[in-house]
Amino acid sequence: MSNSASSSTTFGCSSSTNNITELKQSVVKNFFIDVQARKPNSWYGKCSICSQGVADTYGTTSNFVRHMKTKHESEYEEWLAKKNINLDTKQRNIDDMIKQKTNKYSSINPRQVKLTESIIKDLIIECGVPLSLVEQNGFKNFMEIVDPMYSLLSRRQITRDKLPKLHDRMIMKLKALCNNAEYVSVTLDVWTDRRLRSYIGITLPTFVGDDLKSHLLSFAPLKGHHTADVLLAEFEKVINYYHIEKKLVRLITDNASNN
Ligand SMILES: [Zn+2]
Repeated sequence: MSNSASSSTTFGCSSSTNNITELKQSVVKNFFIDVQARKPNSWYGKCSICSQGVADTYGTTSNFVRHMKTKHESEYEEWLAKKNINLDTKQRNIDDMIKQKTNKYSSINPRQVKLTESIIKDLIIECGVPLSLVEQNGFKNFMEIVDPMYSLLSRRQITRDKLPKLHDRMIMKLKALCNNAEYVSVTLDVWTDRRLRSYIGITLPTFVGDDLKSHLLSFAPLKGHHTADVLLAEFEKVINYYHIEKKLVRLITDNASNN
């Protein structure tokens, strides 16, 4: 592998196929228990997350992989991302070989994944840059200079795929946080933007050690008049959604007249 640049294309292809087969086999090892061979010519395992049984032709993994992709997508992707980092060096060598053909990273290449993540988390979410950024020529040129092998994701990929996944993951973390808390207090605010559209925001302040952190549980547009009834309905929806109705010890609101 060390003299990869001079390796033949055939060698590059076969080792990449082996990697993928290994990866699929390890899905079974990692997520399924009581794995056993069954007659005739099949194997069976129990999902360690939901206990559902999955069977497939012996040595074949497509049913196992499909189960993970459809039933436990976030666990599967998290595991895959970690796996990619472990395969980093191997992957780079393979990428070097593929590079001679396409000049671009594969979609699961760690560098490709990291840059995409950073554009979404740091630029779009943290800096609040509009999504149209990824369609602008200036940014395309900039990324070409940052890393010519990186393929810029489309705006559609961000809205249809990346943001919903990030959102789901965030909700899961918030639910876990609420689940583990003994008592919670929440803050309820009403915002009005420059076009006089109103939003209700419910935040959850937490202490982790001495660090005060504020988590946004819900941010929703308010339709109609924001009377106490409308606010209460939204508030109860959120409280029930996170199952914190019995843990709530304090509710803080601003001093608007409609509280
Ligand atoms: Zn399962």
